[in-house]
Amino acid sequence: MWKVCKFGGSSVAGSGQFQKVKSIVEADPQRRIVVSSAAGKRFAGDHKLTDLLYLCHAHLTYGVPCDSILSQIGARFSDIRAELGLRVDVDALWEDFCRGLSADTPVDALVSRGEYFTSLLLAEYLGYAFVDAADCVFFAPDGQIDREKTDAAIRQAAEEHGRIVIPGFYGKTPSGRVRVMPRGGSDITGALAAAAVRAEVYENWTDVSGILMADPRIVEHPSPIPRITYGELRELAFMGASVLHEGSVRPVKELGIPLNIRNTNDPAHPGTLIVEHVEEEDTPERFITGIAGRRNFTILTLRKRDMELSPTLRQALEIFEGFHAPVEHVTLGLDSFSLVASTAALGEGLYALTGELEKRCRPDDISVQDGIALVAAVGRKMTSRPGISGQLFRALGESGINIRTIAQGADELSIIVGVDNRDYETAIRVLYHGFAG
Ligand code: ASP
Repeated sequence: MWKVCKFGGSSVAGSGQFQKVKSIVEADPQRRIVVSSAAGKRFAGDHKLTDLLYLCHAHLTYGVPCDSILSQIGARFSDIRAELGLRVDVDALWEDFCRGLSADTPVDALVSRGEYFTSLLLAEYLGYAFVDAADCVFFAPDGQIDREKTDAAIRQAAEEHGRIVIPGFYGKTPSGRVRVMPRGGSDITGALAAAAVRAEVYENWTDVSGILMADPRIVEHPSPIPRITYGELRELAFMGASVLHEGSVRPVKELGIPLNIRNTNDPAHPGTLIVEHVEEEDTPERFITGIAGRRNFTILTLRKRDMELSPTLRQALEIFEGFHAPVEHVTLGLDSFSLVASTAALGEGLYALTGELEKRCRPDDISVQDGIALVAAVGRKMTSRPGISGQLFRALGESGINIRTIAQGADELSIIVGVDNRDYETAIRVLYHGFAG
């Protein structure tokens, strides 16, 4: 069985972090594939190598010298090599690379070198084979990952070498050029590697002990979520929780491979395990898995006596679509319905959109209410449990929070309430302390 471990930038920021990575990898012989980010920040105020590389590219483009930034990057590699007593001549390799730089150097070729050099050092330190992502992660002509080719190449490299390190974040295009993924893309590389070898688990090692139940800027020391389903994760991400990007979850989710978020600085902590289904519940008393939310929504309510709901609603949805304002929620009444959209997405178009609704839907009245925040309580354990929404609403009401809209997903995985922006943080705290903490 294989375990794929992806280490984020802070986990490989310097030689001390490399040592932690080594003891994690050596603690389990199944941890045979390692995917690494570029060295990140070592302390507050430090810089991620990827950010410095993007900065270099901007300098090169405008013909501004960037030698000092390049030497700063080179010094990071050089220090790690010296402090860990590695043999790879990273100084010469880096100098060589820098010598070839010009205003025409493609940005991807430059910024991908953070992962490349960090992984080169890590591979030697772990005693694993270095496999360049340009040789095992492939883009298709449409810019998507060529899954078949990538799967085969990663599997072959893993079988050939047994234990490998792959740099995250980039791959190769059909024309043979290096291309980077979106920022944070090493997570995607890790998921691709885990899918390729049908890993037992995809471990994503970072600097927090898993996904937190609520935003720590709002709730003091929220607990990490021990177990969450992919469905719940999607709900939380949609509602604004900063969790893994959809693209980095899909390859493992499709195959039902569990994803474990772990903390390199606290390896004994089990972190968060993301799975397709949770068989048995070990914490039956907590029915909320996590809480997330976003501010600044607008509610448009359309009233029309004796309305034929379907055609009017369809027209309204088409109008929103025409204005590129995704409708986040719909609540229905007999003679009215409300559509909730982000205020920013409606933007300047709000007045034209309302005009269009007047013209085509011919309502008796339209009201617009902005300054609304949506707060979601997400939890698989809410499914089919009577009385849950009542308890949530009562708790919010007792704290003086006026609920403007209510939406419960048809799968009962989340209950979403609309409250005034000013009640946003209180609502999250009330839900956390009352039902999750
Ligand atoms: N180093 C890249 C970034 O900072 C990719 C990654 O870390 O996943 O976005």
